[in-house]
Amino acid sequence: MAEQNPDKGKGNDTTEKQFATKLIHFGAEIDGQTGASSVPIYQASTFHHHDIFNPPTYDYSRSGNPTRQALEDYITLLEGGVRGFAFASGMAAISTAFLLFSTGDHIIVTEDVYGGTYRLLTTVLNRLGIESTFVDMTDFEAVKAALQPNTKAVFMETPSNPTLKITDIGEIAAWAKEHELITLLDNTFMTPYHQRPIELGVDIVLHSATKFLGGHSDVLAGLAVVATESLGRRLKQLQNGLGTVLGTQESWLLIRGMKTLQARMEHSERSARKLAEWLDNNPDVTRVYYPGLANHPRRDVHEKQSKGYGAVVSFDVGDGERAKAVLSRVKLPLVAVSLGAVESILSYPAMMSHAAMPREVRHERGITDGLLRYSVGLEDIDDLIADLEQALKGE
Ligand SMILES: *Cc1c(COP(=O)(O)O)cnc(C)c1O
Repeated sequence: MAEQNPDKGKGNDTTEKQFATKLIHFGAEIDGQTGASSVPIYQASTFHHHDIFNPPTYDYSRSGNPTRQALEDYITLLEGGVRGFAFASGMAAISTAFLLFSTGDHIIVTEDVYGGTYRLLTTVLNRLGIESTFVDMTDFEAVKAALQPNTKAVFMETPSNPTLKITDIGEIAAWAKEHELITLLDNTFMTPYHQRPIELGVDIVLHSATKFLGGHSDVLAGLAVVATESLGRRLKQLQNGLGTVLGTQESWLLIRGMKTLQARMEHSERSARKLAEWLDNNPDVTRVYYPGLANHPRRDVHEKQSKGYGAVVSFDVGDGERAKAVLSRVKLPLVAVSLGAVESILSYPAMMSHAAMPREVRHERGITDGLLRYSVGLEDIDDLIADLEQALKGE
């Protein structure tokens, strides 16, 4: 028998691979001990010290766990960063990253940031004296005008939720660097398959892995990847100090889901394009938001920084009564908050994710009472369209 390559599955093959290959051959796909075809679930809180003078690599699971480590290395590889971290939720990742900052610091944040991030900044971090200014990041002049002597960071999210506004990542990251600001970006909607912010100059990429990375609506998790060793050391200290880590079972489940990321994203994106085109030509729909549509504002900027348009399409059916009628008549999508799963998910931002926002502010941002957000899953797109057609017609 020919000798087996002893390095197989140990991540020692450093030749650069295509994304689809990295998703499957990420370094820990074969267990070094047994050859098992998946990462073992090390369901242990603590680790025996065989030699008291020579502490083990892992000594306590809050500080480090081999299953979680495999996931952290996996997302680092996919995002092209230097170190990754797994957290109990997207908000745990985001709040831990914000604690890099201190009382008296100021952060510039995109105005249509995820609702939970907005709430964290305006009800928790403000109490700790961490100030934030919300700006329309499609307007570079507005970003520059928000700079203060105590500004320490810029927080981006593109495309934004739910109207899919496009921020120019490279432009803002370059400007931030000139001013020695740390840049953070919530990459939940695009995933590293479509968009890799670190390659564009961003310092910290954040994810609600609950969405596309997990992909099956069955795990709550957050991930962060940093671009430098020094940020890695600081974030590690916070993750360990705050204890915001992801559990072992969830770490394994997330790895399991992420292996099919490209297959899922490709399918969902192809379907989302078709859905967006169909909605755009539908007289019952007053407005469609999807970066893949020719008339989407700043589509050129999106195409410069992303390899695809994603699987989320928002559209306006005119008023709240019609929106509620559609929600009650659809038969295929889950009617729920969240997105990025194998099943399609239809959300109603005005009453779900953005319910806490004052009506006028919501309307100013295009989050009208008639706006619906469709996260396209893996069903047959013609079935999804037929279902939405009957829901819009109300027969
Ligand atoms: C869902 C979401 C979050 C929060 O993630 P959780 O896993 O729910 O804590 C953050 N950002 C975006 C863009 C999201 O969609």
